[in-house]
Amino acid sequence: QAKKKPAKVDDDDPRFLKPRPPVVCILGHVDHGKTTLLDTIRQSNSAAGEAGGITQHIGAYQIVHNGQKISFIDTPGHAAFSLMRERGANITDIAVLVVAADDAFKPQTEEALKFANEANNAIVVAINKIDAKGANVDRVKQQMQEKGIAPEDWGGETIAVEVSALKGTNIEDLLDMILLQAEVLELQANPTCPVSGIVIESQVQVGRGPSASVMVERGTLKVGDALLCGEVYCKVKSLTDANGKSLKSAPPATPVNVIGWSDIPDSGKRFSHQKNEKAAKRAAADALQQRKLDAAAAKEEAQRNQGAATVEDLFAAIENQQKKCLKIIVKSDMHGSTEALINALKAIESDKVDLEIIGKGVGMITKNDITLASTGGAAVIGFNVRLDNGVQSLAKHHEVRIVQHSIIYELIDQVEECMADLLDAEIVEKKLGATEIRQVFSLGKGRSVAGCMVTEGLIKRGATARVMRAGTCVHESKIDTLKRFKDDVKEVRAGYECGLHVAGFDAYEEGDLIDCFSVEEVRPTL
Ligand code: GDP
Repeated sequence: QAKKKPAKVDDDDPRFLKPRPPVVCILGHVDHGKTTLLDTIRQSNSAAGEAGGITQHIGAYQIVHNGQKISFIDTPGHAAFSLMRERGANITDIAVLVVAADDAFKPQTEEALKFANEANNAIVVAINKIDAKGANVDRVKQQMQEKGIAPEDWGGETIAVEVSALKGTNIEDLLDMILLQAEVLELQANPTCPVSGIVIESQVQVGRGPSASVMVERGTLKVGDALLCGEVYCKVKSLTDANGKSLKSAPPATPVNVIGWSDIPDSGKRFSHQKNEKAAKRAAADALQQRKLDAAAAKEEAQRNQGAATVEDLFAAIENQQKKCLKIIVKSDMHGSTEALINALKAIESDKVDLEIIGKGVGMITKNDITLASTGGAAVIGFNVRLDNGVQSLAKHHEVRIVQHSIIYELIDQVEECMADLLDAEIVEKKLGATEIRQVFSLGKGRSVAGCMVTEGLIKRGATARVMRAGTCVHESKIDTLKRFKDDVKEVRAGYECGLHVAGFDAYEEGDLIDCFSVEEVRPTL
């Protein structure tokens, strides 16, 4: 007999909801003090350095202020934030927009404001560096008003706190204001339903295998839980906070580092609770299988479409075949940065060169990477990573190009250069000058020389010349003889007469025009 399915419980039903701490991110222009602010807040937190281990970077931390918890995402930089957003992960409630009082609004400040608005975050403005020379708080407030986020003391609704992240001034006020804002938002979550959340960042920890920092969204994460995150599963072996303290459980809005994964989960991806490890493992295998099936179906579809090609498609296909492709293997220090880098690389636009990522990974560049790159004809791109022993010489031996940098923009520039290097040099012709044949001198044995008047520019020995007759080119080659009277010369300018001979041609006629060009190879652009 058919079993009656129990009605699905709504985990977000208001009956189950309990208050939860706010999740805060810090955004703003480079050098306006985001990192300093994150460090100062973390240090001023009384719980930090308490029983437990060493403070560690897990991508987020939680503090207690006036007996209330606040979680901070501590990967400043917009790349991480926009990656999360792209994945549909919206884990932050409040964005602290840092604006340096001595520098005011900058392009990235505006970008940050846009991000925060799109993510529906409440905004608290931290006017930083009030201790600095040239600090002008009023100017920042004026700009806030212009951008539609007028501060409260100017009759607006946006909370602005004047701070010095460096000196620790008014940090308590800022935290007070964050809590006030959180209270207004009435943040709640269900702590008792099956756990789910978002991976913030992930990496391989030496001797401990894959680890991932996650933010719990709903439910409570416990040691022993079975989780599924895409094609990766986890039996939670340990939970640690940013102070290195091990936890038994993590309620909603708690950032925690999780060990026990089958592989490195993608940052920005959602994980969910599974009945047990076996079920999680099976679900992960199913997800992998499904992806393979999807890929195969997509390939088949593409092939089928190719069969019904139109002439335009055919031309496009031929063009594509001629299109060069730079293959790369991407390595970086953290999973989140690999993803951010790959996204930035994919954004490189070129009609002439494709970029194909044939491998990616976290950790230093190893011999294995070089071998893989050599087989696939790829370059290795390293962001913020070192080379393992012996990698340099192996790369040299296999002629594998390694591009490394710790600044993402520089790295991207270098990858663009690698792409441009694949292109054949472009030949550019520049007209140097023109002559008109006034007289033809025969030298005997069928050889002759053209007696010319240079009518424009400059004629050079060795340069390319085109003999033009009635508008058509009758011969093109290099000028192998150039004389002024009896003397060989290198060049002759407009207004002077000369005798010249174009290699392989003797049938000059009076009235022919000889144009002279330089041919240059220029570095192609993408
Ligand atoms: P980020 O790029 O936004 O993360 O900025 P950083 O935190 O790295 O800070 C950039 C520079 O500004 C560093 O040299 C900091 O020491 C300095 N800085 C940060 N906060 C303050 C502040 O409140 N006052 C002053 N005078 N300098 C600051």
